[in-house]
Amino acid sequence: KPSVIITIGMAGAGKSTFVQRINSYLHTSENDTRPPYILNLDPAVLNLPFEANIDIRDTVNYAEVMKQYNLGPNGGILTALNLFTTKFDQVLELVEKRAETTDHIILDTPGQIEIFTWSASGAIITDAIASSFPTVIAYIIDTARCVAPATFMSNMLYACSIMYKTKLPFVLVFNKTDVQPHDFALDWMADFEAFQAALATHPGARDAEGEPTYMNSLMNSMSLVLDEFYKHLKAVGVSSMTGAGVKEFFDAVEESRGIYERDYLPELERAR
Ligand code: GDP
Repeated sequence: KPSVIITIGMAGAGKSTFVQRINSYLHTSENDTRPPYILNLDPAVLNLPFEANIDIRDTVNYAEVMKQYNLGPNGGILTALNLFTTKFDQVLELVEKRAETTDHIILDTPGQIEIFTWSASGAIITDAIASSFPTVIAYIIDTARCVAPATFMSNMLYACSIMYKTKLPFVLVFNKTDVQPHDFALDWMADFEAFQAALATHPGARDAEGEPTYMNSLMNSMSLVLDEFYKHLKAVGVSSMTGAGVKEFFDAVEESRGIYERDYLPELERAR
């Protein structure tokens, strides 16, 4: 059975570039891989830098939905996704028919992250596909944008909330390592004291009286909580620009199949 990779990321993290990169990696025969089967779930994207096998834009016209239901851009995207989800059983049939011809199915999600992660449709699509195939979430992060302890932590909390919501195997993809290496992030994840040391020296760590600020104390405590979360995920550094780290990403996807079978499947059986 092929693995499903659901790509999620904040706008600008490099999700489209990442999907383009892993797509071209899988198309390269020297890598001994078969081309993926790609689903685009972003109704509002103008140009995709890769060819999608199934494209939400072929089923629903997002601009038309906005006009017809009198919606703004986000409402339009959400409604388009809802309409598409009503037909997802047919989509799943198509995917299952093609399952023997590929090793990877890639889902590209809407650029506005919360439209997928916090909507009923996103949950329905995720659950439907994950009950048919080994599935992993690839959470794309702009590494340069999380060198500050506070932004690093808010990014990790967001990732944490998605992981516990979906309960799926999770790979953190520190993207753009060509501009910012991700070793600091791995250090912080492996050792909360390293994170707390960075926290203690960052600007704003102390107030005018020299006391730790409320934010700092909060982040200090939360780093202990996140320590448990870090144990449950894999992290890789990737440059979607140069292709560095893509092989390691696929190794992490392969390892996640075992986690899916060990943790997710039994949970699914119980729920049935
Ligand atoms: P999305 O909104 O998450 O889909 O992000 P895009 O794929 O559109 O990328 C946002 C910006 O980041 C674009 O200008 C990309 O060229 C750039 N970008 C994406 N990946 C990388 C990377 O690995 N390295 C560098 N230097 N830039 C990148």
